[in-house]
Amino acid sequence: MDKVFPPLTRLAASLPQTVPFVGPEAIERRTGQPFRARLGANENLFGPSPRALAAIAASAASTWRYGDPENHDLRTALAAKHGVAVESIAVGEGIDGLLGLVARLFIAPGTPVVTSLGGYPTFNFHVTGFGGRLVGVPYRDDREDLDGLLAAVRREQAAVIYLANPDNPMGTWWPAAAIETFIAALPPTTLLLLDEAYGEMAPPGTLPSLDPSQPNVMRLRTFSKAYGLAGLRCGYAIGAPDLIGAFDRVRNHFGVNRTVQQAALAALDDDPYLNQTLHRIAQARVRIAAIAAQHGLNAVPSATNFVTIDCGRDGAFALLVLEHLARAGIFVRKPMAPHLDRCIRITTAPDDVLALLGAAFPGALQAAGI
Ligand SMILES: *Cc1c(COP(=O)(O)O)cnc(C)c1O
Repeated sequence: MDKVFPPLTRLAASLPQTVPFVGPEAIERRTGQPFRARLGANENLFGPSPRALAAIAASAASTWRYGDPENHDLRTALAAKHGVAVESIAVGEGIDGLLGLVARLFIAPGTPVVTSLGGYPTFNFHVTGFGGRLVGVPYRDDREDLDGLLAAVRREQAAVIYLANPDNPMGTWWPAAAIETFIAALPPTTLLLLDEAYGEMAPPGTLPSLDPSQPNVMRLRTFSKAYGLAGLRCGYAIGAPDLIGAFDRVRNHFGVNRTVQQAALAALDDDPYLNQTLHRIAQARVRIAAIAAQHGLNAVPSATNFVTIDCGRDGAFALLVLEHLARAGIFVRKPMAPHLDRCIRITTAPDDVLALLGAAFPGALQAAGI
């Protein structure tokens, strides 16, 4: 068939036309079999606060209205929560959406960007979309290698360094003091994107105190994980007002819709529910580690709502375990980078769901040839 549209830009034409994130829905369509346990996407299976659900229901009839393009009330609540000025908060369509905007603001063809090899991939996707040059630093001992990242930043004179703390896919973390040392050592012309999607779940002393006077640090948080609102798409950035203000140049001003704003506000207003969820997540981590231990496998210590299990052999074996779990109706994911790929990654969940995992696990290991 003839192309009837104008040519894609050279950059767009160079990009692969794929959906890089294969959702469980796509797998279910392919196999024709619905998953019984959805433990691969680090969603919060304990669900959102009833207050958030009530806010969603209450806002339904007002959907004819556009949301506030300044996200004023939500930003004000977030600023109060974190003790920063409202100008230090930007709201976006999840951390993923904000990462795309950061790429648009700072990445031109050839701009050097440092990330961890095998780390959370969304920023890389956006950087590639603007022609940036990715420099990957391997993990060390299942953690992001702060010394290696810093050396790469200096060597490449990187414009941006992306770091997730706690980390996905390994679940490991650095204490605040190590992150603060890292920040102090960064060149002032390098922006640190500190992705704290799992920040609420980390042990005390993991998150550095917020200092919006640091011009080259942007913290990223989300309602998707601890707050259980992944399907709504709401995240936020915290940073110096000049840095945060730049989002207004490029953001989709009505992208965070009215219902999302109301739900996020209500979720923020329910700390007891959040604390209960954090407790449940911590218990479920122990339970997943126990399931692994029953079969002689080690769980990587986790500060997140998932547990990464070392399957004890190579990547091919771990992939087989994953595939046999999928056949048994259990959706999990796994890291793909060398050495990390020996693991599978399992989201925390209520006991009845983890019971399905526990029941399927020995069969999957056996079928994989343990
Ligand atoms: C899940 C996850 C995100 C996605 O956050 P959204 O707000 O849903 O876009 C971002 N970063 C990391 C490290 C994650 O694991």
